[in-house]
Formats: sequence, structure tokens, C-alpha cells
Amino acid sequence: MIEIPVYSNTQKDIVRKISGEARSSSWRDWRWQVRNSIKDIDTFEKLLGIKFSNKQREKLELTTGKFPLSITPYYLSLINAEDYENDPIFKQAFPSPLELRISKHDVKDPLAEDKDSPVPGITHRYPDRVLFHVSNICSMYCRHCTRKRKVGDRDFTPDRDEVSKGLNYIGSNPVVRDVLLSGGDPFMLPDSYLDWILTKLGEIPHVQVVRIGTRMPVVLPYRITDELVAILKKHHPVWINTHFNHPREITASSREALQKLADAGIPLGNQSVLLAGVNDCPRIMKALVHKLVENRVRPYYLYQCDLSEGLSHFRTPIGKGIEIMESLIGHTSGFAVPTYVVDAPGGGGKIPVLPNYMVSLSTNKVVLRNYEGVITVYKEPDSYEPVFCNRECGDCKLQLRLDESEEFNAVGVEKLLSDYDRTTSLVPKNNDRMDRRDDE
Ligand SMILES: *Cc1c(COP(=O)(O)O)cnc(C)c1O
Repeated sequence: MIEIPVYSNTQKDIVRKISGEARSSSWRDWRWQVRNSIKDIDTFEKLLGIKFSNKQREKLELTTGKFPLSITPYYLSLINAEDYENDPIFKQAFPSPLELRISKHDVKDPLAEDKDSPVPGITHRYPDRVLFHVSNICSMYCRHCTRKRKVGDRDFTPDRDEVSKGLNYIGSNPVVRDVLLSGGDPFMLPDSYLDWILTKLGEIPHVQVVRIGTRMPVVLPYRITDELVAILKKHHPVWINTHFNHPREITASSREALQKLADAGIPLGNQSVLLAGVNDCPRIMKALVHKLVENRVRPYYLYQCDLSEGLSHFRTPIGKGIEIMESLIGHTSGFAVPTYVVDAPGGGGKIPVLPNYMVSLSTNKVVLRNYEGVITVYKEPDSYEPVFCNRECGDCKLQLRLDESEEFNAVGVEKLLSDYDRTTSLVPKNNDRMDRRDDE
């Protein structure tokens, strides 16, 4: 694999073409990068030294008319111009006319984020955590964006009044212990504004952790400045999830950004999306997770591609993801293995999927198989005194010793497994069978 130096000849050439001179100080200035993001096909052709045919041009213009284009000069510099059509960076950054193909099962907002939004900017789907959209701007428009419906909307940064609505929602909902700043990219915000948001979150006693989802280490690593890191460090515990999809995205510059964040004590995670033609290969994914952990980034999720409009050419069968998981689990370090998830269409949240490891079971034996195909039996205890649980944790002999012993109700499948609740089935509402019952 070719290691891209911090300031390569390709990069010098791009700076020269944009500014007329080849100053590395421009290249490493993130604002310069944002100002000079490539937003039209002419500039793209000029900077990369390639030329599309008139016919291709026509289709591309149609595509960017619907889903606009924006690429940072840095990310563009990672494209291999010799073989750009097969290039995983090119495919993630450059429009494809296939985006105009809307298939029958595509939806604008497959995760129903807009429905689960109690106040503007907040998606509250899970019991104890919320997604907080604090910016609608990105430095690069990923072609596979799950929020593609919003890409190219007017760029705006919600002002303090707007953000305060979200902060008030979080402040008045004590169940929220984890806040995920998302967007857009939260690191498109000015340092002082981010500092203000983090300060306000820090003042809410029940918010235990803040997470930031950003693709900056991948598409604009120079955004991770010492000043930014100093601010983040003041607001611990702050966790960051980033979004590398291919080992070629891990360059000297991105390593430097990751190192700064990790050295500031920020736990780093990575969320990849399984994309046809980009990373739908067990060897590529293994190389990616190895490079990530080498840079102190824990692979967190591997996403099945969502059903958003215009992504059909990126989708793989779920079997491809299972095949990749099969090639990782057991074969490499446990902490290098992400959780493979399907984000439920309609807004059910992330559903983990795994190869099957349980082969069979009886009342006292479980037959399992390992990654090599070894089939083994785990002998279970012949007698086991179950601990009856009535969720009265205050009286529990297991001494959880909760500060505020709080009875709470189990939810979902957890309820079926509990001792104190007599529910025997979880039945979806609004099906014919239930309607018939109502008629009686
Ligand atoms: C992914 C997601 C979260 C966070 O889920 P984790 O599994 O805790 O990482 C929270 N809210 C929404 C709406 C999400 O999509």
C-alpha cells in the first residue's frame, strides 16, 4: 500500500492549480480547504487532470442537480487519477448517475428520524440517549449519506436560540444520559460555538457522556487543530466516532489527527458503512480494522447500507456483511471486530446481526461452533437456583446497592425474560388479528 506523505506532489499540484502557488500552509489550513472545496465538475476535471465525455457530463449534471457535489481538496488528493473509476475514494465522493435510480423500496427518511423528533434538532429514539443535530453543513458530501434527503439544503448553523431548544429538551428529560452531537458535521462549527454547546451540556447534571460524530479525520484531518483538541479536553468525558470506510483513507495526515485526539484522552470509535465496490471484501475490511486499532480507533459499527433514496448501487446483500463478520470474529483481536448492524427501516433502531454460533441445545447442554468449524458442547449446570427478581433492587441480595434504588419497567424482549411481568407475547398493534379482537 502506498503511504501518502503529509504533503505529496499531487497535493502541491492541487494547491498550485487553486491558488497559483504551492504553499503547504494553505494546504494545512482547514478553512482554506473548506473555501476551496470542489463543487463543480469542471474544477474536478481540472484538478485531477481527467476529462468526461459530453454524454457522461450530461448525466453527471443531472445528478448534481438533485444531489450536489462537494469534495475537500485533501480528500480529492487521495484519488488515484490513473484508475479513478475503480477508486474507493472517488466512489464515495464523486456523483454517479446511478444515484438517480430510485428503487421501489427506497425511502427519503428510512430511519424515520424526522418522526422521532420532539423538538427541532433532536432525534430521541432510544430510552437514554439522543441524537442532537447541531450543524447541517459538511466539508464533503458523502455519496452514500443516509441523510441524502438533506444534502445541499441551504447551509445554516442553528443559532444559539435554536440550539437552546435542544438543550432545554435534554435538560428537562432526566432519562437522557448520553448526547450524540451529529449533523452535518459538528466540527464545521467554529471552536467557540462548539465550546459553548459543550459547556451547556456539561451543566446538565444527568448528561454523563457526550459523543461527537465527525468525518473530519477522514475528509479534512487538518480540522483537528491543537486549539480544537484543547477545547474538547476541557469537557470530558467526550467520545468521538469517525467514519473510515477503506484502509486507503488512513494517511499520514489522518493518523496525525487521530493521534491528537487519542492523546487528549478521547476514546475513538469508527462507524463504517458496507458499500458495494468500496469495501465489500473481507480482506479490505480486515486491513481497515487493523489500521484503525493501530491508530487507537476501536471499530464500533459496520452498517448495512440504508434504504435512503439514490443508494441502490451501493447496497450489498446482508450475506456480504455476515461473510465479513465470519472472517473477523475469532480470526483477529476481539476489539478489532465491529458490531454489524441493520438500522431498522421505519425507525426501530440498530439491529445487530451475526453469523450463527449456536448449533443446538438440550436442557443441560449447548452445542456451539467456533470460527474454525470446531463443534463443541458446553455442559450447563444440572441444577441452578434462579434468582427471582421483582425489580425491587433495594432488597436485592446481590447487592447492586443503587444510589437511588429505582424500580423500572422492562421494555421489549427484556420484558418476556423478566420474572415480575406476566406478559407472554409482544404483539404489534394494527394487524388484522388485533383488529378482529377489538371488534368482539
Ligand atoms: C445510532 C443512534 C444512536 C446511538 O446508538 P448507539 O447504539 O448507542 O451508538 C442514538 N440515536 C439514534 C437516533 C441513532 O440512530
